[in-house]
Amino acid sequence: MAVALAAVLPGHGQASDAVHTEEASAKKLASPASAAKPAGDKASGSIAKSVADQIRAAVDGGALNRKQQTLTIDNNSKNTVKPAEKPRHAEAEAAKKHASSPAPHDGDVHWSYEGENGPQAWGKLKGEFSICGTGKRQSPINIEESSTLQGPAEPLQFNYQSSGASVVNNGHTIQVDLSGENSLTVRNSTYKLLQFHFHTPSEERINHQSFAMVAHLVHKNAEGQLAVVAVLLDPGVANTLINKVWTHMPLDSNDRVRMPGGVIDMNELLPKDQRYYQFMGSLTTPPCTEGVLWLVLKQPSTLSPAQIKMFSQLFPNNARPVQPLNGRAVREAQ
Ligand SMILES: [Zn+2]
Repeated sequence: MAVALAAVLPGHGQASDAVHTEEASAKKLASPASAAKPAGDKASGSIAKSVADQIRAAVDGGALNRKQQTLTIDNNSKNTVKPAEKPRHAEAEAAKKHASSPAPHDGDVHWSYEGENGPQAWGKLKGEFSICGTGKRQSPINIEESSTLQGPAEPLQFNYQSSGASVVNNGHTIQVDLSGENSLTVRNSTYKLLQFHFHTPSEERINHQSFAMVAHLVHKNAEGQLAVVAVLLDPGVANTLINKVWTHMPLDSNDRVRMPGGVIDMNELLPKDQRYYQFMGSLTTPPCTEGVLWLVLKQPSTLSPAQIKMFSQLFPNNARPVQPLNGRAVREAQ
């Protein structure tokens, strides 16, 4: 498993850093130096920690298998609910040992979704983030249906199968790193699926409307080009795949939990109707690298309100605001 993971999680090359930027940030959060976080972050950190404690206690007690979960978010810095710390799941600990090398001490800046290090400041936080502020083809965008180009059919060919995976809480989202042979063929190129992760609310907007959540499926082809499939998520019937991911959800930043072999089948996340919008954009997190092919599926999949709640209690808002289109073409692939 460690070998397979190593294959999926590249080292420190440029392109792989771009793909795994959120993971890289998570590694840095692990560093003792990052114990001193900006003040604005401490409050949300302690809330997340409090929720994490509660969810962990619930998981340990098997409560996630029941329908009702009671979780309290304490908006004051004082924790009123503080369940006894229980030993972490042995599997999580084991996976963690294999997960990462020691965090580098390169004076990395911490970016966030609110406060002084929020999206409006990303471009100024660090030289390599500058495109976040100056880029002209940034994501996410609002898709105005009345101004899309009506293109001929070009179906997405998903070649997804049961795969091994591990789930990481990188401090910005819950991300699932995949080890199986999953790929997408589009525009005469085949892209391998590396990981998927979630945002709430959806970063993409359609006619200025956002959705409850979105899953981003990050693919890369042999030339190192990225293609991200966005699966919009609406409240409704619970999603089987998300249930498996949430069951193994790591609760603290930097925690990684290995999932049982073959448990992830990405077909369980895709909607039946796979028509989509296509445009060029960027990563939606620093360093906001451009040249990313975006494929936004028009039909949302569903997840249950309880599934939304579980994620949003850990990450109340991890969506970058929409960016200017700057004359880019958005193609509707019927
Ligand atoms: Zn994303």
